[in-house]
Amino acid sequence: MAPSRLQPWALASVPIPLPPPTPKARVCYPPPVVATGKLRAYTDGDRARPSHILIVDDDPAARQFVADLVAREGWTSSTAGDWAEAVRLLDGDTIDLVIVDAMMRSVDGFKLTQLLRSRSRSYVPILMLSSTSDDASREQALAVGVDDIVGKPVNSFELRLRIATLLRIRHLTSALETKTRELEAMARRDPLTGLANRRCLDERLALEVARARRYGRPLGLIMLDIDNFKRVNDDHGHLVGDRLLEFVGGLLRSAVRPSDLACRYGGEEFVVLVSDTRAEHAMVLAERLRGAFEAHSGDLTPAGMQTISGGVSGTDVLGEEPTTDLLLDTADRALYEAKRAGRNRVSCWGPR
Ligand code: GH3
Ligand code: MG
Ligand code: MG
Repeated sequence: MAPSRLQPWALASVPIPLPPPTPKARVCYPPPVVATGKLRAYTDGDRARPSHILIVDDDPAARQFVADLVAREGWTSSTAGDWAEAVRLLDGDTIDLVIVDAMMRSVDGFKLTQLLRSRSRSYVPILMLSSTSDDASREQALAVGVDDIVGKPVNSFELRLRIATLLRIRHLTSALETKTRELEAMARRDPLTGLANRRCLDERLALEVARARRYGRPLGLIMLDIDNFKRVNDDHGHLVGDRLLEFVGGLLRSAVRPSDLACRYGGEEFVVLVSDTRAEHAMVLAERLRGAFEAHSGDLTPAGMQTISGGVSGTDVLGEEPTTDLLLDTADRALYEAKRAGRNRVSCWGPR
């Protein structure tokens, strides 16, 4: 969502019992402390770029005070004077920590924290600077998503330590988020061919069939199976067999549209889900894949030219309400028919 479409009055409906508005206190900022620069080493380790901090305050002097303190430690910062600018900067995905003032004129630190939390794709810690230290507002800050509060007037050393603590947590959390994303991707990929795996197909097929039923859109399904593959393994070894499987992976990735899904269904069996496509058009794609495999497999391995057979089904040729099982089963039967008829061909399911 573009930040410009977010309006502060949209936030007014959020039921947060905020502390009563108090006039913004004039805060005197202490003279800057000479930083040692050591804290950056504790937080950033061998990271290529320094941690980047977003400072949100509608008071330019207060922003500058924190920005100077951050810069002296070797971290970098961006500053925002209002909520819209803060949202825009956070959306850039380079922020490691947000320092927000509790009292701001249009959208205060509590509402802004809630807004940033709801938009952020990654867990970015939020540190609030507040001149009110009563229990209710501290608890409220925690409730809306603030991670730590530093009282005003700010003690520079205290603020630097709290920044360092939150940055360290940020980098650990961020590493965990990256690892989780990698593991999620791995859980859905077949490592040999790089294609989606069976688990991914099951999820996507269920969605696509539900969509086809609801909107009456056609959905095509192609099942491919390398011919006499066992013989390739037996005669030339499994490594040669693996190279043929990898080749099919590359072929399918290059041939299908981004909206389609190609997956390794089993050992030497593959499924292509072709969205918004009738069976007769899925047949054209299947025939193209069969021809490409026949044409190029010969140069690939000592096993020479190989062939592949295909079975095609589609929601438009089932003759009844589509289900995932019915689509897979009819494509499988069409594939069996192609094998029975001599292999290296594609058959389509349909009323005989
Ligand atoms: P058809 O034409 O009827 O499909 O015969 P086929 O030999 O291809 O079929 P069959 O089901 O008899 O053999 C499939 C072979 O696929 C057997 C199995 O060892 C091999 N296979 C399954 N997964 C892998 C793999 O990851 N790598 C290799 N190299 N071979 C595999
Ligand atoms: Mg097979
Ligand atoms: Mg086979």
